[in-house]
Amino acid sequence: MSAQIPHMIGGQTVAGSPDGRFADVFNPATGKISARVALASQVEVTRAIAVAQAAFPAWAATTPLNRSRILFKFKALLEAHTDEIAACITAEHGKVLADARGELTRGLEVVEFACGIPHLQKGEHSMNVGRDVDSWSEMAPLGVVAGITPFNFPAMVPMWMFPVAIACGNTFILKPSERDPSTPNLLARLLKEAGLPDGVFNVVHGDKEAVDTLLDDPRVQAVSFVGSTPIAQYIYERGARSGKRVQALGGAKNHLIALPDADVEQVAEALLGAGYGSAGERCMAISVAVCVGDDVADRLIAALTPKVAALRIGNGAIGNPDMGPLVTCVHRDKVRSYVDSGVAEGAQLVVDGRTAQVEGHLEGFYLGGSLFDRVTPEMRIYREEIFGPVLCVVRVPDLAAATALINNHEYGNGCAIFTRDGGAARDFAHRVQCGMVGINVPIPVPMAFHSFGGWKRSLFGPLHMHGPDGVRFYTRMKTITARWPTEVRAEFVMPTMK
Ligand code: NAD
Repeated sequence: MSAQIPHMIGGQTVAGSPDGRFADVFNPATGKISARVALASQVEVTRAIAVAQAAFPAWAATTPLNRSRILFKFKALLEAHTDEIAACITAEHGKVLADARGELTRGLEVVEFACGIPHLQKGEHSMNVGRDVDSWSEMAPLGVVAGITPFNFPAMVPMWMFPVAIACGNTFILKPSERDPSTPNLLARLLKEAGLPDGVFNVVHGDKEAVDTLLDDPRVQAVSFVGSTPIAQYIYERGARSGKRVQALGGAKNHLIALPDADVEQVAEALLGAGYGSAGERCMAISVAVCVGDDVADRLIAALTPKVAALRIGNGAIGNPDMGPLVTCVHRDKVRSYVDSGVAEGAQLVVDGRTAQVEGHLEGFYLGGSLFDRVTPEMRIYREEIFGPVLCVVRVPDLAAATALINNHEYGNGCAIFTRDGGAARDFAHRVQCGMVGINVPIPVPMAFHSFGGWKRSLFGPLHMHGPDGVRFYTRMKTITARWPTEVRAEFVMPTMK
């Protein structure tokens, strides 16, 4: 019988109910089951909400400076346990260890940002808005808030959310992906060790039943979600229906435009990392290279082909390969079927990764890198998010056509342009309908002190994650107007602060 991954509620591990449901967790590198994760029922999630609700008043009353001090300790613990956390990510997600460490670093940077909460949560004050009258605004925490996260960043995406949420004085319930659930438990353990009071951060594992319970319970004030677009839209609509504040980040199809003056060798290197790193399982992965002119396209295909064919695929925990396996067998098969569909629709398959195998790991969920040329906008491999190591090259005549391609796509997460022409880059950056734009930067993920989010069907809700938007999302404003000392007389016209 494989080990069971429990929930983490009120500072304690809580085993799944023996008559409850469980899901298998795999090591994608070997294809073997490594553990079973408890899938919380409505009753179990409701209990966790009660625990978070009970912890809220004392945590909200804790001074921002003392909340920040706990986060400083948490940051030190994350640094001290980097190897353990990275190994945990790799064992369940499959990404290579160096990439897992990079993910953790980007999450840790949000903790560093949240350590500044005494400054970030300062309100605004106006003296003498009327005779003897002062007015000020406070940024109050919301209460119990929830985060629902995807499999592809089991440390970083939860850390886009909870450091800011708890720094602002909220209590938090994380419902992580059931495919790689161990890392969030590790983070919960370190938060407790850092001195976070029990009940402020809780992890409930589960699937739709757990998510729906969080969405419907009136005690949950706000929901942050990251995952695929159909689920993001569902979360946004159901959460909003019950009056919650919701930010729901969805899928992506990120384009990189290569202009005729770009250094093609540099573009090829950028695409290799941005298209195939983490086996393409990144919401900011580049999955479409848009070449302006046939000459750039021909030179890019010539530069990329040997590099993609030579990608080193292997167990992410051993010997630092370029790419690990995909997260599950089902997902690997789905990505492979996209490659089949590209061939059937007439795209030119330049590198075929469908039959790649890893010696000694024949049961692992591996797929080699695939490269398509002459992809057109009607094809499924162009329209849909593949979320695997498949790069599509689309040829267009000019920058206007390249920009229109991006602007007509349903997603608007990230995009990039490679050029030496500052004017063209500037014009593109202003015209393109995407939330995050790179100029000679293939994966323009904003730093923790800016906010992360896409446009169009890559984000439902007005506010992005972490940075200033994160603080706005996890607080609500109260504006107080006071008169000292005074004699109050009834006024029957609209008060105008004479
Ligand atoms: P997913 O949508 O399948 O799952 C995300 C979360 O939703 C998980 O916690 C899952 O348990 C839950 N969930 C799944 N089905 C549900 C349902 N029917 N009802 C309620 N909850 C449900 O996504 P995934 O496969 O884990 O992650 C990959 C997706 O996430 C990709 O589409 C990727 O682009 C996206 N993603 C987006 C960003 C971004 O910043 N925009 C970042 C990372 C990942």
